[in-house]
Amino acid sequence: MNSSARRYRHAVVIGGSMAGLVNARVLADHFEKVTVLDRDERPEGPEPRKGVPQGRHLHVLLEAGKRVLDGLFPGLIRELQREEGIKVVDPCRDAVWQHFGVWKARADSGIEMVLCTRPFLEWNVFQRVKALPNVEFRERVTVEELLTDAARGCVTGVKVKGPGGEETLEADLVVDASGRGTRAPRWLEELGYGKPEEEKVGIDLAYASRLYKRPKGFRDEWKLLVQYPRSPEGWRAGLISSVENDRWIVSVNGYFGDHPPADEAGFLEFARSLPRPGLYDYLQDAEPLTAPVTHKIPTSRWLHYERLPRFPERFIVTGDAVCAYNPIFGQGMTIATLEAKLLGECLSEQERRAPGELRGLADRFRQRVPGIVFVPWFMTSTMDKHYPQATGERSPGLGALQWFFCRLIEQTSVDAAAYHRFLRVLHMRDGMEAMLKPGMALPLLAYAVKSLFVPLPQRANVDRMPTLRA
Ligand SMILES: Cc1cc2nc3c(=O)[nH]c(=O)nc-3n(C[C@H](O)[C@H](O)[C@H](O)COP(=O)(O)OP(=O)(O)OC[C@H]3O[C@@H](n4cnc5c(N)ncnc54)[C@H](O)[C@@H]3O)c2cc1C
Repeated sequence: MNSSARRYRHAVVIGGSMAGLVNARVLADHFEKVTVLDRDERPEGPEPRKGVPQGRHLHVLLEAGKRVLDGLFPGLIRELQREEGIKVVDPCRDAVWQHFGVWKARADSGIEMVLCTRPFLEWNVFQRVKALPNVEFRERVTVEELLTDAARGCVTGVKVKGPGGEETLEADLVVDASGRGTRAPRWLEELGYGKPEEEKVGIDLAYASRLYKRPKGFRDEWKLLVQYPRSPEGWRAGLISSVENDRWIVSVNGYFGDHPPADEAGFLEFARSLPRPGLYDYLQDAEPLTAPVTHKIPTSRWLHYERLPRFPERFIVTGDAVCAYNPIFGQGMTIATLEAKLLGECLSEQERRAPGELRGLADRFRQRVPGIVFVPWFMTSTMDKHYPQATGERSPGLGALQWFFCRLIEQTSVDAAAYHRFLRVLHMRDGMEAMLKPGMALPLLAYAVKSLFVPLPQRANVDRMPTLRA
């Protein structure tokens, strides 16, 4: 968009991580100036940073997220693939995935996902956003308060604390992309809007992760290896992902206080406890490059801003600040990009409806966010609540739903077409309704009936890590 088409003056983004960066990119098309504030100090290169502790752990980018990034930063992923060795893989063909006690089938699906370390992706997106002439980044600046007009109906800026002391920044729009630790619920309550309802699932999950050199003898039989437990009796998991610079990132995790230790021996012992053959066997010849680090995720949490009866004008909450998931299905960054795209759509709509006017934008955005958040939340929370130890409200009929979901997961080990359709939903190419179409629902029903009579080892692949046919 050329600068004359920018109708608004100044947008402030709180947080310069994945959500903040993609939002800044979108806002740069509509605002003369965008200021991204972060309390953290960004390292000199693609390294983990304090403000994003989860960055040291395995991250994947789902297809829907890749598509948005391709749209916002044309050529970025291809360039990183060509020059930096990040992997764009077919999750059906290039991954081996043990889930719920079965190994999923492998075949071409045409779906694309991105494998690289989280700091590497964030760093490269940051470079692209920093190159925009109307975006400014300010570090070591913590946003402490929202500023509003006298009637408290409209956000007019932020109060910040930085190296130079306290300061106020005026803005036409404030976007909160400050992650799980967001202060938005408190700010809204203090301004008289009340706190958003909080939907929570207690999982007491912790990760331990480290980088390895990819072993020379590894024949590239997969790019991603995933071992997830059979709930409710198992709750330990492990993953290996091929990332840039010929390395592997290895994460292991455990729910309900069964946390992997950060010491060398404990990390390996935890890995050894996963079903074999599997992750542990591959670590035998791999040389560790970093010590294990841990990260705790006590809950997944959705803050329902859309349910608040009133909401201030010119204030947007996005990314993990709205919904922070159990990362099992790798959805968070993808959701952040889809929400940024939504903000762009709302702004374009705003310009058509009432040029130069931002009234109504915040309401329209918050009402549409659940349309993005719901499916990923539903998938992870349904599976988490399969554990009796998980806290959180359970709706009537959840047990039946979980029973079918578990059958679907088993079915993906013997029915490549079912797995393909499941992946299309997971990667957000299709909506949840795709699962109800006869092509998916009828084979699932047939499998579900079979499961009542045929034992698991005879109806699903429980023991063979699938290889690709040449
Ligand atoms: C262990 C783990 C594994 C994950 N794996 C995946 C995965 O495979 N795929 C995936 O897509 N997602 C994954 N996620 C989720 C993903 O990390 C987040 O969804 C993603 O980082 C988007 O978050 P965000 O930008 O909203 O917030 P964050 O990344 O948490 O960033 C918040 C930013 O705001 C800054 N900040 C906070 N408060 C203030 C303030 N008051 N003033 C100024 N700055 C502030 C922080 O310094 C930080 O830079 C995983 C998460 C975890 C915990």
